[in-house]
Amino acid sequence: MEVRKEILVAGIVQGVGFRPYVYRLATNKSLGGSIRNTPTGVTIEVQGPPEAVEDFVSRLPSEAPELAQIMQVFVRDIPCRPDGCFEIVPSHSGERMNTLISPDVAVCADCLSELFNPSDRRYLYPFINCTNCGPRFSIVRGIPYDRPRTSMSIFLMCPECQSEYDDPTDRRFHAQPNACWRCGPQLEFLDARGRSIDCSHPMQAAAEELHAGKIVAIKGLGGFHLAANALNSNAVGRLRERKRRVEKPFAVMVPNIETAAQFCNVDDFGRELLLSRQRPIVLLSKLQATPVAEAVAPRQADLGIFLPYTPVHHLLFASGNFKALVMTSGNLSEEPIAIANDEAVARLGSIADFFLVHNRDILLRCDDSVVRHAAGKTRQVRRSRGYVPVPIPLARSMPEILAVGGELKNTVCLTRGNEAFLSQHIGDLENAESFDFFREASSHLCKILEVQPEIIAHDLHPDYLSTKWALAQVGVRLIGVQHHHAHIAACMAENRIDGPVIGFSLDGSGYGTDGRVWGGEVLIARYSGFERVAHFPYIALPGGEAAIREPWRMAVSCLHHAFGPEFRKLQIPIIRDLPSNKIDFVIQMIERQIHSPLTSSCGRLFDAVAALLGVRYQINYEAQAAIELEMLARQSADSFAYPIALVRGDQEWKIDIRPLFEFIANDIRDGVPSEAISRRFHNGICELLLQLATQLREAFSIRQVCLSGGTFNNSLLLEGLSGALEAAEFEVFTHSKVPAGDGGLSLGQAVVAAEVISKP
Ligand code: ZN
Ligand code: ZN
Ligand code: FE
Repeated sequence: MEVRKEILVAGIVQGVGFRPYVYRLATNKSLGGSIRNTPTGVTIEVQGPPEAVEDFVSRLPSEAPELAQIMQVFVRDIPCRPDGCFEIVPSHSGERMNTLISPDVAVCADCLSELFNPSDRRYLYPFINCTNCGPRFSIVRGIPYDRPRTSMSIFLMCPECQSEYDDPTDRRFHAQPNACWRCGPQLEFLDARGRSIDCSHPMQAAAEELHAGKIVAIKGLGGFHLAANALNSNAVGRLRERKRRVEKPFAVMVPNIETAAQFCNVDDFGRELLLSRQRPIVLLSKLQATPVAEAVAPRQADLGIFLPYTPVHHLLFASGNFKALVMTSGNLSEEPIAIANDEAVARLGSIADFFLVHNRDILLRCDDSVVRHAAGKTRQVRRSRGYVPVPIPLARSMPEILAVGGELKNTVCLTRGNEAFLSQHIGDLENAESFDFFREASSHLCKILEVQPEIIAHDLHPDYLSTKWALAQVGVRLIGVQHHHAHIAACMAENRIDGPVIGFSLDGSGYGTDGRVWGGEVLIARYSGFERVAHFPYIALPGGEAAIREPWRMAVSCLHHAFGPEFRKLQIPIIRDLPSNKIDFVIQMIERQIHSPLTSSCGRLFDAVAALLGVRYQINYEAQAAIELEMLARQSADSFAYPIALVRGDQEWKIDIRPLFEFIANDIRDGVPSEAISRRFHNGICELLLQLATQLREAFSIRQVCLSGGTFNNSLLLEGLSGALEAAEFEVFTHSKVPAGDGGLSLGQAVVAAEVISKP
């Protein structure tokens, strides 16, 4: 007796070797039936003896190829019918394919062993790949995902590649980027002006130049990297100078996990992240004595480190025997990463001495992702290559909404069904190039998901380029979402909770509903709205943007707030260090309210304390002062918490930071080490938020707390606060799938907008 079952599988199951896998599973058991791609995944029919069919069904999800991401499986009995062998059948034409495109994936172990096997026909071939690995998202022009709609369309497969491609039992069955020395993309070595350098081994030439201390721009998976020998201070220094990147740390690629352990503390979590198929840049604490040039990550406790993820990287390390290479995005300061060869030469010609390029086009730029492990979870600092476009599962089905994010670290988000698709990291929308990338990334996302959103969610800031773009769209419904509400909603959505929650939304800045610059916000939040029950006190931001670049201005502003004009009598170094005319100037701005918007920013408070401690009067990259302040605090185990007063009002709790600054000023005067002061400050913030949460729980009977906003990139604060809240029996929700910072904002905007439109 035979049975026949129909199995519907939804998820990332196309272009990842799923059909050949199912084919092998079925034919091994001599089952009949078929498999075909459908709009939501694949449909399988199997027929055979009941035990064999049962076994097939149970093994199907558990033994699936590594890249497959099965979201749902439905099984039902259907009538038997006579058929022969198991078959892979074409999909019905004209169907809307709601399937998902896989992210770009690091080269797999099978391909690697072929790459270095002298008897393999792809020995040392820099573009080796298979259905388990290789480029996906970055080479896709449209859907469905097949070769003519990728940048591989111009390469005609040779007979050998074609027969692998056509063979369901082959690892390269329907591997769209399949290629070899004979038929696929090739490397080329160029000089700084883009002229081809005649050489038989471009890879060897690149390795030699890197050894000679030169800077080589290398075309990667989602864009160009600028590479330099990380052990050569001169090379790294030159890269900094030419890239106009003063101090922001560079990421370093090392050949293997053993080498990583010579530079950083690699624990089990770090190891797992480094070796994951997404191959992100992982932030790990630097070892005391590391051979990496100091200029790679000046004054940093952490190093961003990652492993080779393309065959090109592996070959480069094999050719040059490098211990560590700086591999930083191929761009000038904050512009998007370069992807096309001519574009790279035009934009990076003044930085790179040479170019290692190839003729497989990158259709969509996608920077490296940056992650770390903190407070028990993976934290996304920058979610991009390897993770995008894997959807974030939502608690319920949503209308189709495009959310356009904020201004800094922009991402966009598109919802479809019960999934949210975040774009790759787009960056700071401060120049025309980034804005072009923003438009390109949003339209591409709509295209590959086949969504024409009629609802657009945006930030309330009228000057954000993303807001302006949204407001210029016609025939759509627009929904503005407050920045800090969006942060908390993003945290609720990724944790699939409904609220109401106590939301601590802490960051540098976001546009408030009162037109002021918010950033230290305590909300009782639901998707549909929020009450602002407390916020950090409003402090003048003397000079606006200038106060962000120059934390000493915030220090003066906070001292003025705490002590009044008398603060100049304090016996602390900052008063002596700063020219008194500069202090006068800032005081005048504050007192006369000239170009001094008020801010409740938590980030600026960290800046002020950092400046008071002499950590930093000026910054060279975003959040630098706060990052260096956190590093100091980590070196102290002091348990004292500076007092921050909390006063309960009618509707609102008032936070008073004046005692905080009195204690800090006294400690500085008394010569307490900066490490301890910084630690006491961190402890003070934790203690304040714990007190607030406790009082809010009493007042509102809510015990769920969400922590969101860029300030929670501070893992000392994240660990300290979530630990303290959990100890006090709160249910604490944090980010792990999307960034806590503005990179996660678009998700929050989308879920808030969905709720708003559902109400009449
Ligand atoms: Zn492979
Ligand atoms: Zn070939
Ligand atoms: Fe923010």
